[in-house]
Amino acid sequence: ATPTALLVGSGRAAQLGVVIKGPEVLESTRTIDTVVLDKTGTVTEGRMSLDVERDLVVLGADSQARALALAGAVEASSEHPVAQAITTAARDRLGTLPAVRGFSNHEGRGVSGTVMLDGTEHRVAVGRPAWLVEQGVGVSQEASASVAAFQASGATAVVLSVDGEAAAVLAVRDTVRASSGQAVARLRALGVRPVLLTGDNARTAAYVAEQVGIATDDVMAEVLPADKRDVVARLQEQGHVVAMVGDGVNDAAALAQAGQQGLGMAMGSGTDVAIEAADITLVRADLGAVVDAITVSRDTLRVIK
Ligand code: ADP
Ligand code: MG
Repeated sequence: ATPTALLVGSGRAAQLGVVIKGPEVLESTRTIDTVVLDKTGTVTEGRMSLDVERDLVVLGADSQARALALAGAVEASSEHPVAQAITTAARDRLGTLPAVRGFSNHEGRGVSGTVMLDGTEHRVAVGRPAWLVEQGVGVSQEASASVAAFQASGATAVVLSVDGEAAAVLAVRDTVRASSGQAVARLRALGVRPVLLTGDNARTAAYVAEQVGIATDDVMAEVLPADKRDVVARLQEQGHVVAMVGDGVNDAAALAQAGQQGLGMAMGSGTDVAIEAADITLVRADLGAVVDAITVSRDTLRVIK
């Protein structure tokens, strides 16, 4: 391809809201056969919310208000979308939240810390149910049943543990971007296979996949942040040219890996870390831009050959 043609192609892409790091990126875009889509913040809007009346189930002796205060207190130190949903709901209900000591963020799993409430200190953790079970927290049949029911309805369910006991199940909900389904259909029409990749649980992932038309076999769920990169590497080893689309800090390594043979694409609404790791930034918060990038690149390079 001549430099001029590539420049023209980059210009066309830019008009469509696809910002390319260098014109040579168009070469890799042309041969993409697999697009790995992060779920939260990429296929979905990534703005989660918690409806306390419907989606907070208290398990132990704590009241709804106490459960919310304890969960909100530890989540206030995290920037994860799940944390923001819980903190916002807790502040709306309760105003200020108790202070937290010894906060830890457990990447892809949850958060923990010590919270002082009504004069007593409590060890509190909020996170994915399997992580709390691993820590020896007893999760009853009743709790597991409400987790499963929430997940089947597309929500992300987390468990609150207080002093080693499961105290509540909280389910947060996100919205699939209106444009995601059509973008997936357009990818298929170009002969590109869409794959959904997420740290979230398999049931929630399956619900989102179904909404946008991604096959069950192409859903990879419960993948820890450190393993997202390996998923991309494995597809590459199988001979695929992969574009990875993501927005989060936890997508950066996978975006960089995809860029070695194919492409990393970051949502413009995403984190700086993701944008730096990617070859392309999608200015519109719309997966249609992924399809536009591939189409422009194929057109540009077809013309010049
Ligand atoms: P994704 O791939 O969807 O961006 P992550 O890898 O960041 O997801 O997180 C995976 C799962 O870990 C979340 O769905 C949630 O269950 C749990 N988790 C992560 N961070 C938190 C948090 N701050 N509070 C509660 N749960 C969390
Ligand atoms: Mg994300």
